[in-house]
Amino acid sequence: MNIRIKDIKAEGLSFEFHEDWENFPALVRFGEADQCEFLTPVRIQGRAIHVGRMIEIEGRIETSAALTCSRCLNRVERPLESRFAVTFFQDAGEEPEDEEEEVELAAEDLSLIPFHGEEIDLREPVQEQVIMALPIQVLCREDCKGICPQCGADLNEEECGCSPAVFNPKFAALKKIKVEKKD
Ligand SMILES: [Zn+2]
Ligand SMILES: [Zn+2]
Repeated sequence: MNIRIKDIKAEGLSFEFHEDWENFPALVRFGEADQCEFLTPVRIQGRAIHVGRMIEIEGRIETSAALTCSRCLNRVERPLESRFAVTFFQDAGEEPEDEEEEVELAAEDLSLIPFHGEEIDLREPVQEQVIMALPIQVLCREDCKGICPQCGADLNEEECGCSPAVFNPKFAALKKIKVEKKD
């Protein structure tokens, strides 16, 4: 997933990588935390171009992941797609200390990424982008009925026959607060 600077000609460089998700440490950590499981290699497609002393990269990332429905907890497979644009700048690493600090701050603000040497590594920005593309909440289907809060049955598959809760504990809590205020 490295791009050699000397391969980026004046007209730019088109690239395409297929990388196993196991090669992205941040994605592996996600998998271990059991938040999701990536299913296909990550496909990264894009273009790199020189802009002054910087290198601008624009591209598209595609993969797919198995997530958990937030209502019924069943497995949901989803394609993930994300566009990204990052700018790399050659970090000479020779600035005096205080000036170096300033450069680092600016880099964070503008999402500039320093690189050293002959190559730039896309691993960091790509894994960041994949994680950002993950939906915070996912439903197996729009009208997922979820799980019965009383018996735990998957209501998409069966009607469990539990009587619906007649009493909302949220309202009870509110009532209590009001009473306490009067006192
Ligand atoms: Zn569901
Ligand atoms: Zn039930």
